[in-house]
Amino acid sequence: MNCNDIENLLFEYVSGRLDEKNRQIVADHLKTCPTCCAELAVIEKFNQLTEPCLSIVVEAPEGYFDTRIFWS
Ligand SMILES: [Zn+2]
Repeated sequence: MNCNDIENLLFEYVSGRLDEKNRQIVADHLKTCPTCCAELAVIEKFNQLTEPCLSIVVEAPEGYFDTRIFWS
């Protein structure tokens, strides 16, 4: 799965329509990918579904997510 594949699944992920296998694939990818975490955060802001991203958010350079997420 590359980032394009994950982005295509993010809406289904947040709406709970992914099966367990794909949900796990997305969650695992989110743990390692700030880009997709930013996309997810745009969709869902910071609710529980962004939980796999929290370690990345903490480690991200200051300002990285500000410009990607908080534009709206
Ligand atoms: Zn990604």
